[in-house]
Amino acid sequence: MTDKNRKIAVIGAGFAGLSAALDLIKAGHEVVVFEASGNPGGLASGFKEEHWDWSVERFYHHWFQSDAHLLGLIEELGWSDQVLFPKPVSVMYHKGKFYPFDSIKAALLYPGLGWGINKIRFGLVGLYLRFTKNWKPLEKVTTEQWMRSKAGNFVFESMWKPMLDGKFGENWSDKVNMAWMWARLHVRTTRLGTFEGGFQRFADKFARKLTEDGVQIRYKQSVNKISKNPLGRLDVQTGDEQSEGFDQVLVTLSPGLMAKLAPDLPQDYLGELLKLNHMGAVVMTLSLKHPLSPDGYYWYNIPKQAGYPFLSLVEHTNFLKPEYFGGDHIIYIGDYLEKDHPNFSKSDQELLDEFLPHLKKINPKFEADWVKKAWVSKTGYAQPIPLLDHSKNIPSLQTPIDGLWFASMSQVYPWDRGTNFAVEIGRRAAKLMLEN
Ligand SMILES: Cc1cc2nc3c(=O)[nH]c(=O)nc-3n(C[C@H](O)[C@H](O)[C@H](O)COP(=O)(O)OP(=O)(O)OC[C@H]3O[C@@H](n4cnc5c(N)ncnc54)[C@H](O)[C@@H]3O)c2cc1C
Repeated sequence: MTDKNRKIAVIGAGFAGLSAALDLIKAGHEVVVFEASGNPGGLASGFKEEHWDWSVERFYHHWFQSDAHLLGLIEELGWSDQVLFPKPVSVMYHKGKFYPFDSIKAALLYPGLGWGINKIRFGLVGLYLRFTKNWKPLEKVTTEQWMRSKAGNFVFESMWKPMLDGKFGENWSDKVNMAWMWARLHVRTTRLGTFEGGFQRFADKFARKLTEDGVQIRYKQSVNKISKNPLGRLDVQTGDEQSEGFDQVLVTLSPGLMAKLAPDLPQDYLGELLKLNHMGAVVMTLSLKHPLSPDGYYWYNIPKQAGYPFLSLVEHTNFLKPEYFGGDHIIYIGDYLEKDHPNFSKSDQELLDEFLPHLKKINPKFEADWVKKAWVSKTGYAQPIPLLDHSKNIPSLQTPIDGLWFASMSQVYPWDRGTNFAVEIGRRAAKLMLEN
């Protein structure tokens, strides 16, 4: 094998897999991407009705202005003119009402923190986290311990506890480390971005460009085993029992799937993979005949104690114009849940029956016949859970099996998962594979 004729497999055509494939093909290697579904984009993929010009993501998605890896990739591809950054309004709940919370002015006016010392402590803590780069000591304390001591019990219980409970549930919310919170507050922006046509259009365009550059993308090819063959190469076996030899393989799936695909990994590494925890997500998308939010709000953060059977309500068409969707108004109803939560086994109709009555609390005029169509997306792997000293738990990208590499959402720590970090880790993995 000379360096120029390596044959490389990438498992998964999400943002990480596609980004890795770009750099591997550029370096002159033969690259085959195996994708279980029928299209690229992974968790950020979308779907489209006949009468829509744009697709909507299966799980709500937007970019931040600080997403340098993602925006840098788009610039490299020459498509920056197709990125939009509107400024939709996100709101917080307080005593039965919702208040904008997406600027310093809005935070100052938010009644949930009172008007005195608590608001000042909230602001100072936010400023500190925005400016400090020193996240390492923060992984040694939980968000709860740190926030209670620095921002006070009132600020923690009003602002941060509802968010932690909503995102991580009662089993994990008091165990998540403070570096996770730092990563969110350190880089996120209030202006939110997307690609003209939706994330799916970006993924399709990216996949097409890779194909033109020579990458083979094989859709509906689910990989079920990766093992060393007697020649020292890695056999990639697909669902149809076909097997093909590769010099290097990069897996971009969840840690659990990685452990299943490569059972020959040494126990230490398998143990690291299986020790990682994550939340799943159930997200319903509805197309409506009328707008839902009476005030034109985009993102409703809803604390569990407010009595809604979901965490967030997102009116996508208050972020992007309804004209892109043939005049339909699109909303998402989402929640992060543990894999064994009953919502994973409920039918779409059962979820709809449960959710719809609560939309009347957002808009009393809402009627069930506003709903044109409903879709439900479920994933068991949506949000990694970072515990204390989590940097010690991150499996290396290079696995102990020669030529086998692993790059997933669970390894972008201390950053929180996102397409920006999928691009970063995909490209980092490609660089290491090329140097190896
Ligand atoms: C509810 C929710 C909201 C989110 N919101 C945002 C957001 O607003 N902004 C943002 O940037 N990010 C957001 N994210 C995160 C973002 O979607 C992920 O970080 C990113 O898409 C991960 O990309 P990936 O390539 O690492 O993995 P994935 O997207 O999971 O890609 C893995 C691919 O592998 C394929 N696959 C699985 N098994 C096999 C197999 N056996 N063989 C072959 N292929 C297989 C899958 O079909 C998939 O296409 C959100 C995620 C969720 C769940």
